[in-house]
Amino acid sequence: MTAVLSADTCRTTAIAKVSGADLQVPLVQGGECSYANFDYAASAPALAQVTDRIAELLPTYASVHRGAGYASRISTLTYENARESVARFVNCADDQVVVFTRNTTDSLNLLAQCVPGSTVVLDVEHHANLLPWNDARIVTAADTIEETIERLIGELCTKPAALLAITGASNVTGEILPIARLADIAHRCGARILVDAAQLAPHRRIDLQECGVDYIAFSGHKLYAPFGAGVLVGRRDWLDEAQPYLAGGGAVREVTIESTEWACAPARHEAGSPNVLGAAAIATACETLHALDFDVIAEHEKALTAQLTDGLSAIEGVSLVRLWNDAPDAVGIVTFTVDGFEAGEIAAFLSAEHGIGVRDGRFCAHPVLARLGLSGGAVRASLGLGSSSDDVTRLVDAVNILVSNQR
Ligand code: PLP
Repeated sequence: MTAVLSADTCRTTAIAKVSGADLQVPLVQGGECSYANFDYAASAPALAQVTDRIAELLPTYASVHRGAGYASRISTLTYENARESVARFVNCADDQVVVFTRNTTDSLNLLAQCVPGSTVVLDVEHHANLLPWNDARIVTAADTIEETIERLIGELCTKPAALLAITGASNVTGEILPIARLADIAHRCGARILVDAAQLAPHRRIDLQECGVDYIAFSGHKLYAPFGAGVLVGRRDWLDEAQPYLAGGGAVREVTIESTEWACAPARHEAGSPNVLGAAAIATACETLHALDFDVIAEHEKALTAQLTDGLSAIEGVSLVRLWNDAPDAVGIVTFTVDGFEAGEIAAFLSAEHGIGVRDGRFCAHPVLARLGLSGGAVRASLGLGSSSDDVTRLVDAVNILVSNQR
């Protein structure tokens, strides 16, 4: 079967009906909806609420914080309300601020400029959480989470570190780390903690006060909003003390030819005309998800992930990729290889012959893929709000066909 994909977009409400509760969140999907999207971990399609909000704002957008003009005042209100929505979404503490950025990568690079000391990171991280840190101390993860935590404690305790920068959910396998426990460990060792929540935020409720996390970063385009906006949420003091990430208008209180008085965060790190539509988009996604029950979302995605895992592991020659033997929880990511096939070949077959979109490659996590003996890459199937059991069956059947064609 060759899937027909059209460049048009259509609206669909083909959203999962989860036991007892309907996730009636319409999404804007591609083409004739014959596309089975298994690439939510790369970018998730926009929620209809998000596209509606952008359409509403498009006619009147203006530069924010730029005077008393009508459009500028409306945009300023939209922008600052968006900040509050994000703060509510993660239950920000009083000493934490929301800084709008371009994406998670931008957020982590911003924070890296503010850290007063070294940063401890695991080797399993996405490059965005591996490369920005100025004085990075990289810990090799063990094959259990428990042993990995022991190694982190060893590193944090032997030599003081300013920050533990860790992923909330792996973009390679979806496995979730115990962030509240890690926050406690980091604090007891005198460090702060940053959680890279690019993969976690779309799938699990995050309560910064409950889990004691100091900084968090995530991207709009993985949270059912479009590209161009992300956030860094975190404790104000480091952000206020550091040099602005970008120098320019909006980040200052007063400028003379001789001197510059910088503003406090968040303005300090948001120089230039900000992305008001992006901020509104990410905020609308936060509000929409906030109104849903994350337990229901998690239950729905877990059931589909189990179906996918079971289906794929029953196929001869298919191997599933795992970082840890004891991960108690994971978001909907299933990464696999198939004996005798390159990752790119599998992805091309699934796409061209079955209209299934997966991600192949090394997932911007080269060091860990190399350690796992997967330098040739793997295939990642990732789920989200629009995924269905029929899609999963279609993917499993397609991999079965691929393997039987080879015999
Ligand atoms: N961190 C993780 C865990 C990711 O999965 C990604 C993107 O895939 C990033 C960071 C970088 O996100 P962005 O490209 O939106 O900056």
